[in-house]
Amino acid sequence: MTTESHTTAARERIGRSEEHKGIDEITILWISEGMSCDGDTVSLTAAMQPSIEDVVLGLIPGLPKVNLVNKVLSPSLGGEDFLAPYRAAARGELDTPFILVIEGSVPNQDIIEGDGYWTSFGNDLETGQPLTLNWWIDQLAPKAWATVAAGTCATYGGIHGMAGNPTGSMGLGDYLGWDYRSTAGLPIVNVPGCPIQPENFMETLIWVLQHAAGDAPPPPLDHMLRPQWLFGKTVHEGCDRGSYYEQGDFGLDYNSPKCLVKTGCWGPVVNCNVPKRGWMAGIGGCPNVGGICIGCTMPGFPDAFMPFMDEPPGGTLSSLVIKPYGAVVRRLRGVTNEMVNHEPKWRHKKSKLTSGYDPYWRP
Ligand code: SF4
Ligand code: SF4
Repeated sequence: MTTESHTTAARERIGRSEEHKGIDEITILWISEGMSCDGDTVSLTAAMQPSIEDVVLGLIPGLPKVNLVNKVLSPSLGGEDFLAPYRAAARGELDTPFILVIEGSVPNQDIIEGDGYWTSFGNDLETGQPLTLNWWIDQLAPKAWATVAAGTCATYGGIHGMAGNPTGSMGLGDYLGWDYRSTAGLPIVNVPGCPIQPENFMETLIWVLQHAAGDAPPPPLDHMLRPQWLFGKTVHEGCDRGSYYEQGDFGLDYNSPKCLVKTGCWGPVVNCNVPKRGWMAGIGGCPNVGGICIGCTMPGFPDAFMPFMDEPPGGTLSSLVIKPYGAVVRRLRGVTNEMVNHEPKWRHKKSKLTSGYDPYWRP
């Protein structure tokens, strides 16, 4: 019995019990040839709720059948075999609607004087010259059912767009325009993170696919086009070291289990859910497990947060303000903690009951 026969049977069962009101089959054309390290693709493979395999094998009821085309995960022979669906989509001849996923920031081709390219994906079949990422975006974004930016580089420019870069790199919103709409009327869906937290991306993808199936409204996005339910709160609001902060108890070196604001944590002003969610299966994270938050999900990353290992300017003031209150509260809690760390005196094995039991209702 092969996996294929299991999954085919499962898909048929699902197909019989679910009626799609929208799209039945959709292709994900993933291009990681932005200025990129492929870290978001690799991160994606760590997702478990659901896994990308669950989606591709059709194991989630109600979703369209998904054809994933991603160079790292492709079972194709590579080369032209791999590029075929991209070329078909560029010609407007792909036989399913498609979601365009861009990974990596978009360099500025216009600043190159003369021939050349910053990054490319396949060659022009007639001239043999490399096709730039920019060319592919120009071809595919206007035809895409939805366009998704995976990772902070693709969303906002990220590390490749930092001060002093030679490529003029930017995010997809800067390149396509923030008022871009896909053929389904969706804005760019931005999933920042350097890299993406695996389930953050999968949840967003599932929402988009459920929308494609006609079973969900468009995903709710904030003004930077991030999913609101994932990026609506700060790191600090979900950090399990927040109680140290509140008690004015700060770690002064990187081995400390206490709040890390003095060693460079930007958590109080960064929109991200990683410490609350963990990285894989609730394990890992950033400040919750001892790594300062460097704001890697933020549009201002990295320049606004560098040098990473210095105390954030706002942290000095807020930690100063909280110190006297925190010291008093910590001391009072210490007293109460000592009090409740003893058993009450009526728990003993003497022959007389001293718990205060009073059977007053008996005659
Ligand atoms: S470690 Fe960072 S996120 Fe956690 S409580 Fe301290 S400042 Fe907030
Ligand atoms: S907690 Fe900070 S460093 Fe960690 S993923 Fe979120 S934004 Fe990035």
